[in-house]
Amino acid sequence: MNEERPSPDLRITAHDVRADEDDRFHRFKLISWWDQNKLRNARVLVIGAGALGNEILKNLALLGIGNVMVVDLDKVENSNLSRSVLYRAADNGAYKSDAAARATREIYPDMRIEPLVANVVYDLGLGVYRWADVVIGGLDNREARLAINRACYKVNRPWIDGAIETIQGTARVFVPDGPCYECTMSDTDWKLLQLRRSCNLLTRQEMQTGKTPTTPTISSIIAGVQTQEAVKLLHGLETIAGKGFVFAGLSTDSYLVEYQRKEDCYSHDTLGQIISLDLRADTVTVREMLGVAREHAGEDAVLELGRDVLHKLVCPKCGTAEEMFASLGKVRAGVAPCPRCPDVRSEVQTFHTIRGHESFLDRTLGQIGVPAFDILTARGKSISVGLELSGDARSVLGVLEQQGELEWT
Ligand SMILES: [Zn+2]
Ligand SMILES: [Zn+2]
Repeated sequence: MNEERPSPDLRITAHDVRADEDDRFHRFKLISWWDQNKLRNARVLVIGAGALGNEILKNLALLGIGNVMVVDLDKVENSNLSRSVLYRAADNGAYKSDAAARATREIYPDMRIEPLVANVVYDLGLGVYRWADVVIGGLDNREARLAINRACYKVNRPWIDGAIETIQGTARVFVPDGPCYECTMSDTDWKLLQLRRSCNLLTRQEMQTGKTPTTPTISSIIAGVQTQEAVKLLHGLETIAGKGFVFAGLSTDSYLVEYQRKEDCYSHDTLGQIISLDLRADTVTVREMLGVAREHAGEDAVLELGRDVLHKLVCPKCGTAEEMFASLGKVRAGVAPCPRCPDVRSEVQTFHTIRGHESFLDRTLGQIGVPAFDILTARGKSISVGLELSGDARSVLGVLEQQGELEWT
């Protein structure tokens, strides 16, 4: 054996040097304002695991973001493989959120990441938005953007939108006190959205699968800007809040557009107070929840759901009504024809306010289409209070809930 061992002091130094080299985030720390702890503790909600979502998740993993939830409804198809760095051919047929979470964890094993298969417009509880420090969207339609926008403003969270088409794209940052996505919508945007809505509601599923031509180069550029803005937000640095970064790939031109807040915009409804309740959508009844609402907002308070829920299908010809009670996101077009008049499409009746005289008060919230971990509004004459179904946090947040601190800012 070699008796010439290094002195204890030298060994300590050697150990430290090795640890330093092992530190994958060492180069970030050379940036003067960088705080890796802020990123390690950050909670980011990524909505959409398509071309943009893949790039966003890849970036979050490389940056060492500690807590991520990824939401998508779709499954991986062969055509995704040309624009999705996280997917392999073997993932075909798997849920995008599952495959994306697995691959993201491979890049950064210390990340806690939870996949959720859900329709963002109808089935994503508001509690998930409230859990997040920042929401990043990678979606391709106005309806989903509007849903995210309203949810974020309700729970006072910033969100970063990305949009791509061919080789051009836009990244935008919306913060609670600034102009929102709805403020930016033009008459043309509204017309296109109305066109979608004026069709039978139940055909939405088919209409949502519109295919946008895009490339992996433009998604990496726009997702890069989105993620960088998220890093700045998490550090408390100035961002392009209220503005849009536009990149035109053909002319290699980029510029910022500034948005104005519209006074008559409907999206700025923020819940001032949100109460965490140890209740679950699957077990609390509508009657019980209305009782809770009246405890907090007065005897005349009504209970508002976070979104429209399908009540019944009514045949406009023979009047046959079929009670459905479901989230609009879970109803397929196939159920729409009247059972007696095969040629007639039933009309959809929805509701989103409960006043106390309804026939379904003894159903659970889950049974009328309220998603788990949602936040309902108790609206009284002089006060409105958010009521969070926090009993669902564990099942919805999964590994992210282990953080154990359900303290909100
Ligand atoms: Zn607005
Ligand atoms: Zn009929």
